[in-house]
Amino acid sequence: MEEEGIHLDAKAMGAALNACSHSGLVDEARNLYVNMRSRYGVEPGTIHLNSFVDCLSRAKCLDEAEQFIRKTTIPKPDIITWMALLGPCRWHGDEERVKRLLPEIFNSKDIQKTHDDIIGLKLIEANVYAGLGDWDRHQAIHQQLTRDSHGPGRQKVPGRAWIEVDGTVNSFIAHDVLHPRSKEIYAELDRLEEEMQRAGFQPDTRFVAHNVSDTEKKRLLCHHSEKLAIAFGLISTPDGTPLLLTKNLRVCPNCHAATALISKLRNREIIVRDANRFHHFKNGICSCGGYW
Ligand code: ZN
Ligand code: ZN
Repeated sequence: MEEEGIHLDAKAMGAALNACSHSGLVDEARNLYVNMRSRYGVEPGTIHLNSFVDCLSRAKCLDEAEQFIRKTTIPKPDIITWMALLGPCRWHGDEERVKRLLPEIFNSKDIQKTHDDIIGLKLIEANVYAGLGDWDRHQAIHQQLTRDSHGPGRQKVPGRAWIEVDGTVNSFIAHDVLHPRSKEIYAELDRLEEEMQRAGFQPDTRFVAHNVSDTEKKRLLCHHSEKLAIAFGLISTPDGTPLLLTKNLRVCPNCHAATALISKLRNREIIVRDANRFHHFKNGICSCGGYW
């Protein structure tokens, strides 16, 4: 684009950083991010920061990513920035770093956290203890999560989706990183997101209460529990195999629209039993006709 004399704006920068992250191009990403303001006149936003941290962390530059988050004040790192570091720490076997960072993130008043974020952090914590072979603490955290989600004053049950593959039931919550194939699942979600964008899919962001930008909302929506279960089903079964899911809550309108499109793009029948009814998605259309 530069060679063609096309002006690179904030969106182009976001796309380029994202591409670097998914191709392991750390030097290119560093170059882009550091020179964004001086060379391209683009003010780095949280989305750029998060993509860059994601790129460093995926490429195992975990020290650099952590130091970078600590010294960055504009844009201000948020919970997604820290999550972008924590997830890859586990893939790279750096449980000690996660153990050190988690209390700090939990206790920081500067980092705003929603109920879902806290569950996500707890799951990461449980996961770390599993990685270290400390099954007692792993179990204790899961028990606490179950208690919290049913306890008094907890009006909100976390959404959970189940999918059966080869006789084994796999369960997911939003932003889940607990599954052993987590990395592949998120890679598949990224591919799906790209395909859906190309097909003109517009996520409906009205149903997300978080106080974040539209881009971030879209990203959050993409990681609802049923999306993770669908992505897992797609990478775990041969082409054409129908996917059977169960969800404890009503499917949200965005996931409903996304699932319909995925059934068409990937040529898969997807059957979802949610809290209200069965949805049979086939070739872009759901049997419920949009009423559920
Ligand atoms: Zn959803
Ligand atoms: Zn439906």
